Amino acid sequence: MFPVFIHSDPMKVNLARLVLECEGIACFVKNEHTTVFVVGNFGPIILRFPFCDPDLCVLYEEDVAPALKLIKEFKSDSSGADWQCSQCQEMVPHSFDQCWNCSHDPTINPQSP
Ligand SMILES: [Zn+2]
Repeated sequence: MFPVFIHSDPMKVNLARLVLECEGIACFVKNEHTTVFVVGNFGPIILRFPFCDPDLCVLYEEDVAPALKLIKEFKSDSSGADWQCSQCQEMVPHSFDQCWNCSHDPTINPQSP
């Protein structure tokens, strides 16, 4: 496995994973569940371990370069607004042309088969 993207926000790492998966790159998120919620007498406390932030890894070495390129585009293109799929109502990152969940393309007439 080859780490290509580390970020403290698991949502961002999972979005990057979706970007890679849409391009057919085999990958997984390591340390996805390292944020620990401890409920004590003073309410919930969030414990984070910065040395094990969520870490997006690709399985094959030949995928490292294309993965890094996609993640660079993903990071530089993260200022737009996400959109909601009119078919399945999922929120879709603005960098996606099609819905990640149902592959609905919003530029195609939703009434067509
Ligand atoms: Zn959809």
